Amino acid sequence: MSREVDLFVIGAGSGGVRAARFAAGFGARVAIAESRYLGGTCVNVGCVPKKLLSYGAHFHEDFALAADYGWDPGKPGFDWPTLIANKNREIARLNGIYRSLLLGSGVTLLESHARLLGPHTVEAGGELWQAKHILVATGGWPQKPDIPGAELGITSNEAFFLPQLPRRVLVVGGGYIAVEFASIFNGLGAETTLAYRGGLFLRGFDQGVREHLRGELLSKGLKLEFNAEPARIMRRGDGSLATSFKDGREIASDCVFFATGRRAMTEGLGLENCAAKLDDKGYIQVDEHFATAEPSVLAIGDVIGRVQLTPVALAEGMAVARRLFRPQEYRPVDYRLIPTAVFSLPNIGTVGLSEEGAREAGHEVKVFESRFRPLRLSLGEQGEKTLMKLVVDASDDRVLGCHMVGPDAGEIIQGLAVALRAGATKQVFDETLGIHPTAAEEFVTMR
Ligand code: FAD
Ligand code: NDP
Repeated sequence: MSREVDLFVIGAGSGGVRAARFAAGFGARVAIAESRYLGGTCVNVGCVPKKLLSYGAHFHEDFALAADYGWDPGKPGFDWPTLIANKNREIARLNGIYRSLLLGSGVTLLESHARLLGPHTVEAGGELWQAKHILVATGGWPQKPDIPGAELGITSNEAFFLPQLPRRVLVVGGGYIAVEFASIFNGLGAETTLAYRGGLFLRGFDQGVREHLRGELLSKGLKLEFNAEPARIMRRGDGSLATSFKDGREIASDCVFFATGRRAMTEGLGLENCAAKLDDKGYIQVDEHFATAEPSVLAIGDVIGRVQLTPVALAEGMAVARRLFRPQEYRPVDYRLIPTAVFSLPNIGTVGLSEEGAREAGHEVKVFESRFRPLRLSLGEQGEKTLMKLVVDASDDRVLGCHMVGPDAGEIIQGLAVALRAGATKQVFDETLGIHPTAAEEFVTMR
């Protein structure tokens, strides 16, 4: 006996949950299978716990500043197990909220692995399901470089559950996760080195932003090693790890953290039982409507490898639910002007084109920049500087990109993303009154 639904969703992460809930809200019969944790990567081993650890790491600087404001914070001590236990409690609460949201919207929840058996058939938890449409939203998984001793290193998945804060951490990689976790470990008091195979981390971000962050991280005591490609990891007699690099450098640490990218999670999915295809990087190939080569099988989120961000997975999930079950409300996902933040300390916030990207795209570019010490730090010795940068098209005055390195950059850039989508010109920025005294007002006073 098999059970029938209109939509079977595989994976209850950001994209899958959004698609399932809205499809059910539009009157579809929906089932969703989740093999690991409700809420997926973002809630369990991604955005949310990462941001909590990042808040935790910032206290280090806050205590120092408190003294400049007349407070005597005593001698602050830090306890990693407390932070992790409190984080785990909050994540368990969020898992419960996801469960209620799904059940409350009438979705059948199966807490088990799911596997495609054919274009309309899924097996989950020992039961067979027939579905008009199957949505694959299985996300991604961290990948390590293929080097001897790689198994001695951890990834973000394990970092969230380490029993103790390591004394010395080597972070390998130069993307979002590398700079975020290097900042977290450094802020929490571990002796931290970030080693990246290229000349400067955060490839693709505005060059001025990358250079500014490099300076800030160095001044906070992080060690940076560039053009450093790992070759081998060995465990020494004292239990520590020795990582050697292709150019002969060697770094000793107690923990090696690989932040070397993620791959699509398609293991045990049974994709071979339908016509869906993978691209050369292992992501599921889809058309503009998220349909695979098998028309009844769709895919969204990290597993299609477009833009690996939660709001993008949410938008894709929403688009699928609407197109299948509320076509009159369907709008394609617009991948232009996606704002993003890197929660390094200090944070980066960015939307639109980098200066280099704008020039490459053929724009005649005018750049406005401001570097300043935030008022909040003015009573003390901390030298952290904020960078704000606007990239403007000189021919029509349109703002092409807004970039910031500084406290709450993501919070500030979110509002500017609205302005860019509305096509704001530099003149519109100039005519907008500031809120004084804030850091954000700099964005409307740069001349
Ligand atoms: P996921 O959220 O990964 O969900 C996929 C789900 O499918 C998982 O729960 C998995 O267990 C389940 N699954 C897989 N295979 C099966 C199967 N066969 N059967 C049943 N279930 C299955 N993005 C941001 O926007 N902001 C951030 O600050 C941010 N921080 C991040 C920090 C880290 C450390 C990481 C790793 C990622 C971060 N991201 C962030 C990215 C974000 O988490 C992802 O883009 C987002 O979670 C993708 O959603 P998804 O639905 O595609 O997949
Ligand atoms: P990224 O793809 O951002 O970065 C991977 C890094 O690892 C790159 O610097 C890459 O180098 C390097 N690398 C890849 N392979 C190797 C190798 N074999 N040896 C040495 N270095 C290697 O991946 P992340 O893992 O940091 O994050 C995955 C995605 O998750 C991000 O792209 C982002 O979309 C999302 N995310 C978003 C966050 C946010 O919104 N704040 C936070 C965390 C993750 P190179 O540059 O040379 O290719």
